[in-house]
Amino acid sequence: MPESAAEIYARAVEAAGADGRLPTPPIGDWEVFPWEAVDGAVVPKVLAPPTEPAPRTGEEGGPPCGTCGDLDPATVVWEDEYWVLTHRGAPSGLPLVLTLWTREHLDVGDLDDDLASQLGRISNRLVRIMHGLPDIGRVHVNRWGDGSAHLHLWFFARPRGLEAVKGSYAVEWDEILPPGPEDVWRADLHTVAAKLANWGGHARA
Ligand SMILES: [Zn+2]
Repeated sequence: MPESAAEIYARAVEAAGADGRLPTPPIGDWEVFPWEAVDGAVVPKVLAPPTEPAPRTGEEGGPPCGTCGDLDPATVVWEDEYWVLTHRGAPSGLPLVLTLWTREHLDVGDLDDDLASQLGRISNRLVRIMHGLPDIGRVHVNRWGDGSAHLHLWFFARPRGLEAVKGSYAVEWDEILPPGPEDVWRADLHTVAAKLANWGGHARA
């Protein structure tokens, strides 16, 4: 069962520096990170001029698709004939972060009505299952698709009671907060996999 807000807070305080702040995660160096400090104030970066976009992974002219090529079986939480649910290999700052992929190399918008219906049903079940874990406040469902062309939806379970960790910023706190305990994370993966398999497919975690 996921950690409570108090447990996560205690872990963050333990990992913080003397000023109470956690270190800036690597996303601070990402080209797409939109903020920078100027004269002690946080301000938007100057917008870069337009360029021709680089092809995504798994797109024509881009690097080969890692999902079709070598999806690590150790990261699979649940799967069926058409879908694969994965974790990222290790706990992160939020209690649970999962990614749902099509087995076939398709993107959002490419699904026929059958697959689109399956996506809706699996997403709905997954949100209900993850939100049903103790101390989960919300499950955010996201699709960006700016890195890989292979359809993947993100499910971010954020803790209940940490009011700073909400909305789209919960995704950034996932990088900022120190990762939680592996045994807790593994047990929660097992619970999610087993419950999802009640409707079909195979639990792998
Ligand atoms: Zn692919």
